[in-house]
Amino acid sequence: MKDLKYYINKALKEHFALGAINFNNMETLQGIVNACKTEQSPAIISVSEGALNYMSDNYAIALANAAKKDFPYLYLHLDHGKSFEVCKHAIDLGFDSVMIDGSSLSFEENVELTKKVCEYAHKYNVLVEGELGQIKGIEDNISAQKNIYTDPNKAKEFVDKTHVDTLAVAIGTSHGAYKYSGKQELRFDILSEIEKQLPNFPLVLHGASTVDEELVDRFNQYGGTLKNAIGIPKNLLKKAVSQHNIIKINTDTDVRLSMTCEVRRVLKEYTNEFDLRKYLGAGKDCICQTIRNKIKDIFLSNNKL
Ligand SMILES: [Zn+2]
Repeated sequence: MKDLKYYINKALKEHFALGAINFNNMETLQGIVNACKTEQSPAIISVSEGALNYMSDNYAIALANAAKKDFPYLYLHLDHGKSFEVCKHAIDLGFDSVMIDGSSLSFEENVELTKKVCEYAHKYNVLVEGELGQIKGIEDNISAQKNIYTDPNKAKEFVDKTHVDTLAVAIGTSHGAYKYSGKQELRFDILSEIEKQLPNFPLVLHGASTVDEELVDRFNQYGGTLKNAIGIPKNLLKKAVSQHNIIKINTDTDVRLSMTCEVRRVLKEYTNEFDLRKYLGAGKDCICQTIRNKIKDIFLSNNKL
């Protein structure tokens, strides 16, 4: 059985990325799995602390195991673990990898916390993602006011001291549906400098939803009020994958948006409909299409099993 490490190395070598896609219930997960199966793409299925609380441990693990049984090229990941205890809990539950997010701490505290998680995780062959710099926006229980770009010189020191397996970098992406108020850009100069300091090291992008105009329009057409929502342009993400060492791209907002805009449409168009399979099913199909597009246009991970 190929493990997550295998696909991270393959992604580095062949310049594709693993989509790290958040799920919160069975339908979101099924939409993701259907997309990966159709495109023959490996992927990471992510659970945030909030999602774990929402589903509860037993349901989250059972759903993830069902997904893996359905398509064995999926890896369960904890998104934004804020403490050693939360990461340990996920490791003990059998997660394949965890993120320890010490990005709001001082550099020294972040190193210390991340190192502690790595020491525990690596005993069980669980991979660890750390984060250096801060990614703007709000997502579940995490929030940051502004972007603090990753310092390339500190990045090497951080990796050397903590032994993280992957590193989330801040180069201008942000969490949520409102990613830019000004120019839509990513700091590829900073990314290149990080890569110079850390050659061939797997890097991660958070806050990388594209927030497609068509989905936002559909959302608003059926009663939503999501104004001026804006994501990261596809071509910038594709460049980060095809020309740089970004091997994991996180996606949460686009999944939520896909589900919710279809639920809105079905309920508005069929006002006497109360079969939840109709509207959740439509949401599931929309998630599948959204992820298929990403696999082909951004992750470049189709046919990479
Ligand atoms: Zn994130």
